[in-house]
Amino acid sequence: MSLAEITARIARAEAAAGRAPGSVTLIAVSKVQPEARVRAVLAQGHRIFGENRVQEAAERWTPLRAEHPEIALHLVGPLQTNKARQAAEMFGAIHSLDRPRLARRLADLAQERGSSPALFVQVNTGAEPQKAGVLPDAADTFIDDCRKMDLPLAGLMCLPPADEDPDPHFDLLGRIAARNGLPGLSMGMSGDFEQAIARGATHIRVGSAIFGAREG
Ligand SMILES: *Cc1c(COP(=O)(O)O)cnc(C)c1O
Repeated sequence: MSLAEITARIARAEAAAGRAPGSVTLIAVSKVQPEARVRAVLAQGHRIFGENRVQEAAERWTPLRAEHPEIALHLVGPLQTNKARQAAEMFGAIHSLDRPRLARRLADLAQERGSSPALFVQVNTGAEPQKAGVLPDAADTFIDDCRKMDLPLAGLMCLPPADEDPDPHFDLLGRIAARNGLPGLSMGMSGDFEQAIARGATHIRVGSAIFGAREG
Protein backbone atom coordinates (compact mmCIF):
# COMPACT_ATOMS: atom_id res chain seq x y z
CA MET A 1 0.00 0.00 0.00
CA SER A 2 1.34 3.44 -0.78
CA LEU A 3 2.09 6.05 1.84
CA ALA A 4 -0.60 8.23 0.25
CA GLU A 5 -3.19 5.50 0.75
CA ILE A 6 -2.21 5.10 4.40
CA THR A 7 -2.38 8.83 5.05
CA ALA A 8 -5.80 8.95 3.34
CA ARG A 9 -7.02 6.14 5.59
CA ILE A 10 -5.69 7.98 8.64
CA ALA A 11 -7.51 11.15 7.58
CA ARG A 12 -10.76 9.20 7.14
CA ALA A 13 -10.38 7.53 10.53
CA GLU A 14 -9.69 10.89 12.19
CA ALA A 15 -12.80 12.38 10.59
CA ALA A 16 -14.97 9.37 11.48
CA ALA A 17 -13.87 9.68 15.12
CA GLY A 18 -14.57 13.43 15.14
CA ARG A 19 -10.91 14.15 15.66
CA ALA A 20 -8.92 17.04 14.26
CA PRO A 21 -7.09 16.44 10.98
CA GLY A 22 -3.45 15.76 11.72
CA SER A 23 -4.06 14.76 15.34
CA VAL A 24 -2.54 11.33 14.69
CA THR A 25 1.22 11.01 14.14
CA LEU A 26 2.25 8.28 11.70
CA ILE A 27 5.46 6.51 12.67
CA ALA A 28 6.70 4.54 9.67
CA VAL A 29 8.34 1.47 11.25
CA SER A 30 11.27 0.74 8.96
CA LYS A 31 12.98 -2.03 10.98
CA VAL A 32 14.59 -4.72 8.82
CA GLN A 33 13.35 -3.09 5.60
CA PRO A 34 15.69 -2.77 2.63
CA GLU A 35 17.12 0.68 2.14
CA ALA A 36 15.44 1.11 -1.26
CA ARG A 37 12.00 0.89 0.36
CA VAL A 38 12.99 3.34 3.06
CA ARG A 39 14.35 5.77 0.49
CA ALA A 40 11.11 5.50 -1.49
CA VAL A 41 9.12 6.60 1.57
CA LEU A 42 11.61 9.40 2.26
CA ALA A 43 11.22 10.54 -1.34
CA GLN A 44 7.48 10.85 -0.75
CA GLY A 45 8.23 13.35 1.99
CA HIS A 46 7.72 11.27 5.12
CA ARG A 47 10.11 12.13 7.95
CA ILE A 48 9.01 10.19 11.05
CA PHE A 49 10.38 6.67 11.33
CA GLY A 50 10.40 3.92 13.92
CA GLU A 51 13.06 1.32 14.65
CA ASN A 52 13.17 -1.46 17.23
CA ARG A 53 16.92 -1.79 17.74
CA VAL A 54 19.36 0.93 18.68
CA GLN A 55 22.32 -0.45 16.75
CA GLU A 56 20.41 -1.11 13.53
CA ALA A 57 18.86 2.32 13.75
CA ALA A 58 22.27 3.96 14.11
CA GLU A 59 23.66 2.11 11.11
CA ARG A 60 20.72 2.93 8.88
CA TRP A 61 19.91 6.45 9.92
CA THR A 62 23.27 8.10 10.57
CA PRO A 63 23.95 8.41 6.81
CA LEU A 64 20.33 9.16 5.88
CA ARG A 65 20.18 11.92 8.48
CA ALA A 66 23.23 13.55 6.97
CA GLU A 67 21.04 14.02 3.89
CA HIS A 68 17.82 14.85 5.78
CA PRO A 69 18.60 16.35 9.19
CA GLU A 70 14.90 16.88 9.95
CA ILE A 71 14.20 13.15 10.23
CA ALA A 72 12.61 12.18 13.56
CA LEU A 73 13.30 8.72 14.94
CA HIS A 74 11.18 6.79 17.43
CA LEU A 75 12.42 3.72 19.28
CA VAL A 76 9.55 1.22 19.40
CA GLY A 77 11.48 -1.84 20.60
CA PRO A 78 12.97 -2.81 23.97
CA LEU A 79 15.82 -0.70 25.35
CA GLN A 80 18.70 -2.14 27.35
CA THR A 81 19.88 0.18 30.08
CA ASN A 82 23.44 0.14 28.73
CA LYS A 83 22.17 1.52 25.40
CA ALA A 84 20.17 4.32 27.02
CA ARG A 85 22.70 7.04 26.28
CA GLN A 86 22.94 6.17 22.61
CA ALA A 87 19.15 5.98 22.45
CA ALA A 88 18.70 9.35 24.16
CA GLU A 89 21.09 10.91 21.65
CA MET A 90 19.47 9.37 18.59
CA PHE A 91 15.74 9.15 19.23
CA GLY A 92 13.20 11.92 19.63
CA ALA A 93 10.87 9.46 21.35
CA ILE A 94 11.18 6.16 23.19
CA HIS A 95 8.05 3.98 23.35
CA SER A 96 9.40 1.21 25.57
CA LEU A 97 9.98 2.67 29.03
CA ASP A 98 9.01 -0.26 31.22
CA ARG A 99 11.16 -0.58 34.35
CA PRO A 100 12.54 1.50 37.20
CA ARG A 101 16.20 1.00 36.36
CA LEU A 102 15.69 2.29 32.83
CA ALA A 103 13.64 5.22 34.17
CA ARG A 104 16.45 6.10 36.58
CA ARG A 105 19.02 5.96 33.79
CA LEU A 106 16.90 8.11 31.46
CA ALA A 107 16.30 10.59 34.29
CA ASP A 108 20.04 10.88 34.92
CA LEU A 109 20.66 11.38 31.21
CA ALA A 110 17.92 14.02 31.02
CA GLN A 111 19.59 15.91 33.89
CA GLU A 112 22.99 15.68 32.29
CA ARG A 113 21.87 16.56 28.77
CA GLY A 114 19.22 19.13 29.68
CA SER A 115 16.71 17.39 27.44
CA SER A 116 14.98 14.07 27.06
CA PRO A 117 13.30 12.13 24.30
CA ALA A 118 9.51 12.03 24.59
CA LEU A 119 8.82 8.97 26.73
CA PHE A 120 5.99 6.48 26.47
CA VAL A 121 5.48 3.91 29.20
CA GLN A 122 4.88 0.51 27.65
CA VAL A 123 2.00 -1.34 29.26
CA ASN A 124 1.63 -5.10 28.84
CA THR A 125 -2.15 -4.88 28.51
CA GLY A 126 -2.52 -8.59 27.82
CA ALA A 127 -0.24 -9.54 30.77
CA GLU A 128 1.65 -11.82 28.38
CA PRO A 129 4.65 -13.39 30.13
CA GLN A 130 6.95 -13.13 27.09
CA LYS A 131 6.16 -9.49 26.44
CA ALA A 132 7.78 -6.34 27.78
CA GLY A 133 5.85 -3.62 29.56
CA VAL A 134 4.55 -2.89 33.03
CA LEU A 135 1.47 -4.82 34.06
CA PRO A 136 -1.76 -2.80 34.01
CA ASP A 137 -2.08 -3.05 37.81
CA ALA A 138 1.42 -1.67 38.28
CA ALA A 139 1.11 1.17 35.78
CA ASP A 140 -0.13 3.93 38.12
CA THR A 141 2.69 3.34 40.60
CA PHE A 142 5.31 3.20 37.87
CA ILE A 143 4.03 6.44 36.34
CA ASP A 144 4.20 8.11 39.77
CA ASP A 145 7.74 6.86 40.25
CA CYS A 146 8.78 8.28 36.86
CA ARG A 147 7.26 11.63 37.76
CA LYS A 148 9.13 11.71 41.05
CA MET A 149 12.32 11.40 39.00
CA ASP A 150 11.21 14.43 36.93
CA LEU A 151 10.94 12.29 33.83
CA PRO A 152 8.76 13.95 31.22
CA LEU A 153 6.16 11.36 30.18
CA ALA A 154 4.42 11.79 26.85
CA GLY A 155 2.01 8.90 27.20
CA LEU A 156 1.53 5.16 27.10
CA MET A 157 2.21 2.47 24.53
CA CYS A 158 0.78 -1.03 24.05
CA LEU A 159 1.27 -4.00 21.78
CA PRO A 160 -1.90 -6.13 22.15
CA PRO A 161 -1.77 -9.93 21.93
CA ALA A 162 -1.59 -10.94 18.27
CA ASP A 163 -4.57 -13.28 18.41
CA GLU A 164 -7.09 -11.06 20.19
CA ASP A 165 -9.39 -8.20 19.32
CA PRO A 166 -7.20 -5.19 20.12
CA ASP A 167 -10.08 -2.89 21.08
CA PRO A 168 -10.28 -3.88 24.78
CA HIS A 169 -6.50 -3.36 24.99
CA PHE A 170 -6.75 0.08 23.37
CA ASP A 171 -9.55 0.97 25.78
CA LEU A 172 -7.58 -0.22 28.79
CA LEU A 173 -4.56 1.84 27.71
CA GLY A 174 -6.82 4.86 27.25
CA ARG A 175 -8.27 4.49 30.75
CA ILE A 176 -4.84 4.23 32.37
CA ALA A 177 -3.66 7.30 30.43
CA ALA A 178 -6.76 9.33 31.30
CA ARG A 179 -6.63 8.67 35.03
CA ASN A 180 -2.94 9.62 35.05
CA GLY A 181 -3.38 12.75 32.95
CA LEU A 182 -1.21 11.50 30.10
CA PRO A 183 -2.09 12.83 26.63
CA GLY A 184 -0.21 10.40 24.36
CA LEU A 185 -1.46 7.00 23.22
CA SER A 186 0.95 4.99 21.08
CA MET A 187 -1.19 2.17 19.74
CA GLY A 188 -2.24 0.69 16.42
CA MET A 189 -0.15 -1.08 13.79
CA SER A 190 -0.68 -2.15 10.16
CA GLY A 191 -3.66 -4.36 10.89
CA ASP A 192 -5.54 -2.21 13.37
CA PHE A 193 -4.53 1.44 13.16
CA GLU A 194 -8.03 2.61 12.21
CA GLN A 195 -9.48 0.89 15.29
CA ALA A 196 -6.74 2.51 17.37
CA ILE A 197 -7.53 5.96 15.95
CA ALA A 198 -11.21 5.44 16.77
CA ARG A 199 -10.12 4.78 20.36
CA GLY A 200 -7.89 7.80 20.71
CA ALA A 201 -4.45 6.83 19.38
CA THR A 202 -2.17 9.85 19.02
CA HIS A 203 0.76 7.84 17.58
CA ILE A 204 0.36 4.84 15.29
CA ARG A 205 3.27 2.56 14.46
CA VAL A 206 2.83 1.20 10.95
CA GLY A 207 5.43 -0.98 9.25
CA SER A 208 4.43 -3.63 6.74
CA ALA A 209 1.39 -1.75 5.38
CA ILE A 210 3.75 1.00 4.21
CA PHE A 211 6.91 -0.88 3.31
CA GLY A 212 5.60 -4.32 2.44
CA ALA A 213 6.16 -7.56 4.34
CA ARG A 214 9.41 -7.77 6.26
CA GLU A 215 11.89 -10.26 4.85
CA GLY A 216 13.69 -12.56 7.24
C1 LIG B 1 7.25 -4.02 14.08
C2 LIG B 1 6.48 -3.18 15.02
C3 LIG B 1 5.41 -2.39 14.56
C4 LIG B 1 4.92 -2.38 13.13
O1 LIG B 1 4.24 -3.55 12.85
P1 LIG B 1 3.44 -3.78 11.47
O2 LIG B 1 2.50 -4.84 11.78
O3 LIG B 1 4.46 -4.12 10.45
O4 LIG B 1 2.76 -2.49 11.16
C5 LIG B 1 4.77 -1.60 15.50
N1 LIG B 1 5.15 -1.57 16.80
C6 LIG B 1 6.16 -2.31 17.26
C7 LIG B 1 6.52 -2.24 18.70
C8 LIG B 1 6.85 -3.14 16.38
O5 LIG B 1 7.87 -3.89 16.87
